[in-house]
Amino acid sequence: MKARLERIDKITDGVVSFSFSASKILQYTAGQFIEMYLPDNTPDSRGPKRWFTLSSSPTEDLLTITTKFADKNSSDFKHHLHTLVIGDEIEISEAMGDFVLPKDATLPLIFIAGGIGVTPYRSIIKWLNDTKELRDIKVLLAANTEQDIVFADTFAEYGDKPIEIVSSPSPGWNGEVGRLTAERIIELVGPITNQRIYISGPEQMVEALQKGLLEHGLHESQLVGDFFPGYPADLT
Ligand SMILES: Cc1cc2nc3c(=O)[nH]c(=O)nc-3n(C[C@H](O)[C@H](O)[C@H](O)COP(=O)(O)OP(=O)(O)OC[C@H]3O[C@@H](n4cnc5c(N)ncnc54)[C@H](O)[C@@H]3O)c2cc1C
Repeated sequence: MKARLERIDKITDGVVSFSFSASKILQYTAGQFIEMYLPDNTPDSRGPKRWFTLSSSPTEDLLTITTKFADKNSSDFKHHLHTLVIGDEIEISEAMGDFVLPKDATLPLIFIAGGIGVTPYRSIIKWLNDTKELRDIKVLLAANTEQDIVFADTFAEYGDKPIEIVSSPSPGWNGEVGRLTAERIIELVGPITNQRIYISGPEQMVEALQKGLLEHGLHESQLVGDFFPGYPADLT
């Protein structure tokens, strides 16, 4: 379906949200993704289409995607996305994916994000805020620098403050420092018993953390992953 660009919000130096109105109603569940196609693109070998999680909630009027622009070697797709202006039309698919809340609202959840992998959690937490549904959720955000931690305002409205861990902090940073490993996750969130662990971010990071958690005795049914291909593992 066609979607018209309505808003551009620069979240940080490299992270930008693009909000669209769709030509027909797009039904989706918080946490799902769409495929985006830029029609007039003359793309490189990486092609004219990308998947993006909707960082908006179904309670919001516009459909929003939020992406990170690389410092170098940006794809033609991203260059084209960067040149879009309000009123431009693009193509998007229906929403899909099962990185969504479990039906059992009593299940305790841990949401772990690597960098821009935070997008599905922004959608889910905004939806829970707007529908006033309280769940037991711990949020753990990992990033390269504290400037890469985004959507703090949405998370601040819901439950406990997220745990933030930064691998290359600036001198004034007082929070957690380091890279995420399964051991570090357990140290930060406490013992993992029956919780369901959602992990979203660069593909290699999600795979490594899931493997590590399985080695620490978690059961596969406790793990839900959202893989973002095309980002290096250290782009957290
Ligand atoms: C289900 C799903 C949901 C997703 N949701 C989001 C989301 O919400 N937000 C988001 O930003 N992304 C999301 N992604 C990832 C997104 O689809 C893109 O893969 C990602 O944004 C990278 O975009 P890009 O390939 O245009 O690379 P760029 O962003 O332009 O580049 C990223 C980096 O990758 C390197 N790189 C990767 N592949 C190559 C290559 N073939 N040649 C040269 N360099 C390369 C570049 O050097 C650069 O540093 C999602 C993916 C999936 C599957």
